[in-house]
Amino acid sequence: MKQSAPDLDVIVSEIVAEMRARKDRGTVATYIPELANVDPDHFGLAIVDVAGNVFSGGDCTVPFSIQSISKVFTLTLALGRIGDRLWRYVGREPSGNRFNSIVQLEHELGVPRNPFINAGAIAVTDVILSGRQPRETLGEILRFVQFLADDGAVSIDKDVAASEKRTGFRNAALANYMKSFGVIENPVDHTLGVYFHHCAISMTCEQLARAGLFLSCNGVNPLTGLSVVSAERARRINAMMLTCGHYDGSGEFAYRVGLPGKSGVGGGILAIAPGKASIAVWSPGLDQAGNSHLGRIALEELTRRTGWSIFGA
Ligand code: GLU
Repeated sequence: MKQSAPDLDVIVSEIVAEMRARKDRGTVATYIPELANVDPDHFGLAIVDVAGNVFSGGDCTVPFSIQSISKVFTLTLALGRIGDRLWRYVGREPSGNRFNSIVQLEHELGVPRNPFINAGAIAVTDVILSGRQPRETLGEILRFVQFLADDGAVSIDKDVAASEKRTGFRNAALANYMKSFGVIENPVDHTLGVYFHHCAISMTCEQLARAGLFLSCNGVNPLTGLSVVSAERARRINAMMLTCGHYDGSGEFAYRVGLPGKSGVGGGILAIAPGKASIAVWSPGLDQAGNSHLGRIALEELTRRTGWSIFGA
């Protein structure tokens, strides 16, 4: 039921208790071997409101692999770098296909549907890499995320990156295929190296919620007072998170939760309640579409209790 002034302390602790008690936890990703070692019983939730108040519970201070959530930050960087020219390399439409699908790429001449499917994110990474060395690019991405989270302790889990590099044959196929169409400019192994490493950024729910706050506040991080992007760009990134942020589960997420959101196969979801708060949830077990099973249910519960869905209470 909608509340006019939601008591977020109570809501967070109730959701954490409910989620911890559930037995249906989905399945932890195993195609990146290092992620298979994560305990599926973890559950963390953090909300940072636009005034900077933090409401958090469960494993909200345990770092996890943000994986595809990093694509929100690389998209932001790439737009900052080349602006609307980015749309020559990647589209803005939902794909309706799995996150690592290759079929659509052939029909669309190597230009991926959107920046959040793997092919699109690899193309975005390539744009950020152009004119720089991989190490320098990775440093730039990491420093940007640290700046957004206002926390220099955010780091890259090198074991996760190495694990994905060893087994990332599909992403290598996507990158090589795009290269054949001229969509990828740099050596494929350089672009993939940067991509695997930014996916391996490790963050806690509290750090991640802080890092997303600029998207709830018209592009300004209210914690630092610094402008990250224009209000128009923040609105557009939110629009893409809503339509494309959960792969072929994006419609279901909009239907059930009603917030712009981006998931990762590490089991995290970053959700944005514009003008209200930034929310990070983590539960490692995934559903069929590769999105956190309990993470989505927790967010559905949160918007139900707060009335925060962008589609109305
Ligand atoms: N690094 C993962 C991959 O490329 C990211 C996928 C995800 O988080 O959804 O497969």
